[in-house]
Amino acid sequence: MSIHTHSDDRMACPSCDQLYDMSGLAHLQKARCGTCNHLLATYREDAYAHVVAFSISGLIFFVLACCYPFMSFKSSGMESVMTLPQAITQIKGEGMWDLAILVACFILIIPALVMVLTGALGISLLAGWRNYWAKDVAKLIFHLQVWSMVEVFFIGVLVSLFKIAHMATVGIGIAFWSYAAFVIFFTLALSNLDTFYTWKRLEELEP
Ligand SMILES: [Zn+2]
Repeated sequence: MSIHTHSDDRMACPSCDQLYDMSGLAHLQKARCGTCNHLLATYREDAYAHVVAFSISGLIFFVLACCYPFMSFKSSGMESVMTLPQAITQIKGEGMWDLAILVACFILIIPALVMVLTGALGISLLAGWRNYWAKDVAKLIFHLQVWSMVEVFFIGVLVSLFKIAHMATVGIGIAFWSYAAFVIFFTLALSNLDTFYTWKRLEELEP
């Protein structure tokens, strides 16, 4: 036990302020508020080892998703192949540079940044380092994860695929599957980073 354990196992429900004792949760057990059913925390053993593994896997698939063709379109004898960065450049080329910036931020820049930060925080928590930056990084992750729209983007792509399927022959590239794998690892990494337990660990490790 660290001498810095000024935080205890109590937690107030974020939506109704009811106070709960969170000690004694078993692996994968979820704690919900008895008053408003708000999900309070999920306890996972080896959570930070999983966070690190999922973040690194996610980043590898992210790089593949940016480098390889995402989709190909064949229409009246013409075929065009596009990577994700090329698709964004094309949106900009159509004069919609504001949309291009939004798409680049929500599907590439913010998700990649969240994954890098999550991996770094996971390594720090796993190793038990007393970092002055860890708390700020955790705050940034919990703020930014709301703004990464990887799942929304992926559903959007699937819907547009069905819509254009009758106009052109659509081929799915390696980057499509890589991005799908990235979305899965992104979700897994963040679901292992439970807000309550991460914060408790950070307070134990405060320099
Ligand atoms: Zn509640």
